[in-house]
Amino acid sequence: MTAPGSTAPLVVNRTDSSLLPGATIGVFGGGQLGRMLGVAARRLGYRFAVFSDDHDGPASHVADRSVQASYEDEAALEAFARSVDAVTFEFENVPSVAGEIAARHCPVRPRGGLLHTVQNRQREKDGLVGIGLPVARFAPVRSADELRAAAEAIPGAGVLKTASFGYDGKGQVKVAGAHELEAAWESLGRADAVLETLVPFEREVSVVAARGVDGSIAIYEPFHNDHANHILDVTTCPAELPDAQRARIDEIARVALEGLDVVGVLCIELFLLPGGDVLVNEIAPRPHNSGHLTVDAHVTCQFQMQARAVAGLPLGSTERIGPPAAMANLLGDLWADGEPRWDRALAMPGVFLHLYGKAEARPGRKMGHLTAIGATSAEAAQRARAARESLRP
Ligand code: AMP
Repeated sequence: MTAPGSTAPLVVNRTDSSLLPGATIGVFGGGQLGRMLGVAARRLGYRFAVFSDDHDGPASHVADRSVQASYEDEAALEAFARSVDAVTFEFENVPSVAGEIAARHCPVRPRGGLLHTVQNRQREKDGLVGIGLPVARFAPVRSADELRAAAEAIPGAGVLKTASFGYDGKGQVKVAGAHELEAAWESLGRADAVLETLVPFEREVSVVAARGVDGSIAIYEPFHNDHANHILDVTTCPAELPDAQRARIDEIARVALEGLDVVGVLCIELFLLPGGDVLVNEIAPRPHNSGHLTVDAHVTCQFQMQARAVAGLPLGSTERIGPPAAMANLLGDLWADGEPRWDRALAMPGVFLHLYGKAEARPGRKMGHLTAIGATSAEAAQRARAARESLRP
């Protein structure tokens, strides 16, 4: 804090590369993750600029400035990078050239090379294996020869996933065995893919963590995730894991942040196996849907954490403020019978409504979420689901 009459900067303990409040954080991507980053950055006194190829995206509504241009438009990227003090991103599928151009003018956090790694499942898995992290057995499928080799390497049940542009279960086909592989690959348009063994997981959890410019690390408690139709449905915390598993997950987060040289927020999706082993499913070098409950339930939310890391400020506390919490996604399907009854959820104590300002509600589209608190994780999840049910007109 600034002492009265002092000319000292507002933020102490800053590293040499820190950007003080008043500086502009730029983000590639115009979706809800950018919107929530913008709100958090502004709360800390930063200005916020959005670069997106989308018109009227959720992030642009809270931005000081927003640029709509193609991620291939080098002149627009250059002008944007010159106009901000640091760049981060809110979704992975930004062409790497955008990060390279931005890096000529300002810090890009996390580094653009990480984006390149996670844009392709094969590179992502190679990267994870390379730093010693455990993943499900996998094999590349980029040619008929590789398809045959993959069938031999992973003869049982598996999941064939396109190497690029897959999310929320898109570009994925389950196969009961190698005999279904040819048809599965055909259904993916014979795009470059990765075959993974089907993991008999007991639970899915995620861990959101951050690493600062100075190498400091902050790790949230793991979150328990339930999916519906391959899309995250409800997240609950605490996940109530045995101490040894919790310690293992912390270790995985630490190894990933350091091994991949992340500056920023990283989410790691994990499979918990019978017997206690943990496998990494995939990573996202940004805030994640499963971390949305940190906005209402934790001392420092994942978006403020991203702003802090990008600005080179000290990371914040990852402690939960109070009782257990749960998050339920609100998908466009909820609008099928008309405008949801916001009044009902808003009248519930301990329920927080977040809407992303998207103009059009399409089935499967993430339109917002609800967070609820409860005396136990189970009660919080039950209340989040009940609040969502109450929205139906
Ligand atoms: P992903 O897009 O890779 O996160 O996959 C979406 C969801 O599909 C995951 O959250 C899991 O529920 C399921 N899934 C993905 N890969 C596997 C696998 N190898 N084994 C079992 N289930 C999987």
